[in-house]
Amino acid sequence: MPRKCRLYDFAAEYDSEPITLENLRMAGHTGDCKRCREFVARERQNVVDDLESWAEIENLGWAKDQDFERIKKGFKNNRKLCNKIDSFSGWAFVILEMAANRVGRAIGGSDDVFRDALIHTVGLGRDEYVKALENPAEVLGKRIRNLDYTESFNYCFC
Ligand SMILES: [Zn+2]
Repeated sequence: MPRKCRLYDFAAEYDSEPITLENLRMAGHTGDCKRCREFVARERQNVVDDLESWAEIENLGWAKDQDFERIKKGFKNNRKLCNKIDSFSGWAFVILEMAANRVGRAIGGSDDVFRDALIHTVGLGRDEYVKALENPAEVLGKRIRNLDYTESFNYCFC
């Protein structure tokens, strides 16, 4: 018997579209039930393939100095870019979070540590992100155990 997808109850309660990334996230759904798997796979591919957005993230230079003050200043006259990268990195975060939640406790860390390490990984750019996405238990687990991340890439945005 297929597992029941809790997303439909969740969406009904909030009167919204059932399968959206935001709903998956709010419902704490890892997206691995039969109905949602295809959607998540497509969203994941969209994020991985968005080379333009990754180039924009990599241009910020987070990997080099993790200086959110500098990056934030750089956005001062470019709100549009700031919002665009903020939104893209939000989706990239959600996709990575789902992959990480699927392996659960193997990753370790408190909620804060987990969140900071994940968004840091997004800030590092596409290569590191894809590595983490493909092997979250090992790549993120190691990063969290070693506290090898800076709080917080999110502070870059307006
Ligand atoms: Zn589902």
